[in-house]
Formats: sequence, C-alpha cells, structure tokens
Amino acid sequence: YIDFKAIRENLEEVRDNCRRRNSGADPDLVVSLYNEFVEVSRECDRARAARNENSKSMKGQMEPSDRQALIEKGQQLKDELGRLEGRLTDIQNTMQREAQKIPNLTHPQTPDTEPVLVKQVGEPRDFKFKIKDHVELGEALDIIDFDAGAQVSGSKFYYLRNEGALLELALVHWTFAKAVSKGFVPVTTPDLVRSSVLEMCGFQPRADNTQVYSIADSPLCLTGTAEVPLAGSYMNRILKSADLPICMVGFGRCFRTEAGAAGMAGKGLYRVHQFSKVELFILCTPQQSEDLLKRLVDFEEELYAELGLHFKILDMPASDLGAPAERKFDMEAWMPGLQRYGELSSASNCTDYQSRRLNIRYRPDADAAASGGKKQKKLPTEFVHTLNATACAVPRLVVAILENFQQEDGTVVIPKPLIPYMGGVDRIMKF
Ligand code: AMP
Repeated sequence: YIDFKAIRENLEEVRDNCRRRNSGADPDLVVSLYNEFVEVSRECDRARAARNENSKSMKGQMEPSDRQALIEKGQQLKDELGRLEGRLTDIQNTMQREAQKIPNLTHPQTPDTEPVLVKQVGEPRDFKFKIKDHVELGEALDIIDFDAGAQVSGSKFYYLRNEGALLELALVHWTFAKAVSKGFVPVTTPDLVRSSVLEMCGFQPRADNTQVYSIADSPLCLTGTAEVPLAGSYMNRILKSADLPICMVGFGRCFRTEAGAAGMAGKGLYRVHQFSKVELFILCTPQQSEDLLKRLVDFEEELYAELGLHFKILDMPASDLGAPAERKFDMEAWMPGLQRYGELSSASNCTDYQSRRLNIRYRPDADAAASGGKKQKKLPTEFVHTLNATACAVPRLVVAILENFQQEDGTVVIPKPLIPYMGGVDRIMKF
C-alpha cells in the first residue's frame, strides 16, 4: 500500500527528505520502476484483451485451417502474456524492495542534524568518593556475570544473578503495572516473527548491516523489539474509530546483532545482543497521534523521574530518525561510571508508515450529530497512525541504577518504587 503516485507527484520533496534523513533510498529509481510498472501493466491488459478476443472468435463454425490459425495465434498471445506477467512481477518486486527503503516524511519541527534539548530532569549526583562503573559494581556484588555469558553464548551476553535477576524482573513488573494503571492493555508477544512482518514495520532483515538475527531455513527472525509483534497483531484489520486509540504495553526479549557497533562506547551491559524490554505501542487516528506522542513522552519522564534519575529529553534530528518515524524523542540518563549520558528510551510517531505496509485501517465515523441521528453513508477507510515508546529497556536502567545509586561502602540503594517488586530488598550488598 505504498503510495507510489504520491512519491511521483512529490518527487522533489521526497528526494530532499531522503537527503535530510541520510537515507540510502533512491526515490528516482522507485519512480522510474513505477512508470515501467504502469506501462507493462497496460501491455498485460492489452495482451489479455487480445487473447480473450481471439478465444471468442473461435466460437462457431469455421474452416479447419482458420481454426488452426486461431489456435496458433492464441498460443502466441498466451506466451506473450506469460512473458509480460513475469516481467511485471520482477518489476513489482524490485519496486517494492526499493520503495521499502524510502523513509517516512519528517515533522516540520524536527531539527536537521543535532538533537534539540527539550528538558532536563533532576541533577547529576555529586559523589564524595571514588565511584565504580556498573561492570565493577556488578562483578563485585555478584549480580552480573559476563564470563558465563561469554562462555555459553559469546561476547555481549550476560547473566544477571541474585539481586541483579530480581532487579530485572522488578523493573519489568513495575513499568508494566504503571502502564496498565494508565489504561495500556498488557500483552506478551512472540519473539520470533516472520521477516515479512519485520519489513512491513520498517526494519530491513535483508540489509548488509542488518541488526536482525535470521533463523536458517525458516521465514522467521528474532525480533529486535516487541513493537513488531504488537504492530503485526493488527495487520489486515479495519478498526472502528470508536475503538481508537488502542494502547498496548508489551513485554518481549529483544535480539540485536549490533552489526557495525564495534568500537562504539558499549561497555558491559550498555550494548548487548539480547535484552528484556517493556514497550508501549499505540494505534490511533491521524488526529490523535501528535497528542499521544506527547503523552508517551510524559509517561516515560514520569517513570525515570520516579526512579530518581537525572536525564535529558531530546527532540531527535532528521538524520537520526530511522525509516519509520516522523518524529522521535529520546531520553538520555547520566551514567556517572561511564562518565556520559546514555540513551534510556525513545518515543516515535510513525504516522501511517507502518500501517500502510501492514494494511491497518479504520473507518472514520460519519458525524452522527450532523445527521440528526439518521444513518449516514459509510465513509471510506483510512490508515491508522502508529506510535511506539520504550517504557523500560532493562540493561540501560540497570546501568543507570547501579552507577547512580552506589554507596561508598560498595552497596547500591534500590529506588523506592522498585522495593515492593524486589520482595522488600532495598539495597544490593554482597553477602
Ligand atoms: P530502540 O528500539 O532501538 O529504540 O531501542 C529502545 C531502547 O532499548 C533504547 O533507547 C535503549 O535504551 C535500548 N537498547 C537499544 N539497543 C540496545 C542494546 N543493544 N543493548 C541494550 N539496550 C539497548
């Protein structure tokens, strides 16, 4: 359901947008493929009409030699149609593949190349002692085991033990419960998804530097985020506008190859191949999506402020949006052991980018009031807007909690809201 006509009609704007977003897409190629597609479709129609005409003219009495000539012509037309249809399928596949790379349009207020600081929350803590980073703390407190992770699975894998394991589950449970209290429907999702669904959500499992793990001899991939199964669960549906927005909170394990991430500041738990994440996902009408993005950002802010973290809210630039988002806000927390801010979360409005590919529509309500209560004609369906936001990416929150709430005696104080979810444990200490 990519709108090829709109790409052709707004080619200059689409080109500019691809440039701003550092996208490898080639809209000129897409338009030329589309033109070829239209032309070959017409040729197919003509060949089909000629074949039908030929079949019709075979009816009734005629000389055997005339019938033989018509049969031969029919075979030629059939071969010609088969050849054209084959060509049409090839063009269509290439056109779809190239068009998938074209990013969403960009919100008019999105900055070009640098993030814009929207807000700072809290203050960096002033430590009066020599601090440790989360790797030193995790090993000293026997809560993170990188050796076992490396031995069993490889580098960038880990085990959480003791209060580390409790902390992971507490973070998941607490954020889930908070989201449910705000009206999000709780969902647990499959972590293996079809690569076609990943593609429809704007991820590229077949790209050279893909972040996606594929399963050999299978159409399945390990998903990098619960956004994919949450969005996919509504594909090919027509929703009632009265049911929108649909707000879901999903829990899933995320798998990322982190191809091309070598050498980046990814110490310890910061950048790993597998992690747990609580994800917020919304389907709504186009009129609702801007306001809902703001509400997602407010909810993320509430979560991290309640944990007592110091963080920044950033309006992310066009060059950093990825393909599906029209607008994105990231939150970066101060991580004193790593001596830098690190991304905790992001919240995106993907407008109709994913819903077009997944074919998720809704039927706008005919205005009952205007009709004086009389039954109105059905309005045509429109694509919904989709939004996603991180409530809790466990490893990054573990880094932030360990590094910010460490004490001089080597223990770590657990943020108050998590204590009930930790079975009453309020401090991590080595026994
Ligand atoms: P994304 O779905 O890419 O927006 O990621 C959501 C959040 O997950 C990010 O804001 C990070 O907090 C976290 N995250 C992303 N990639 C990794 C990784 N490889 N290891 C640990 N956390 C990650």
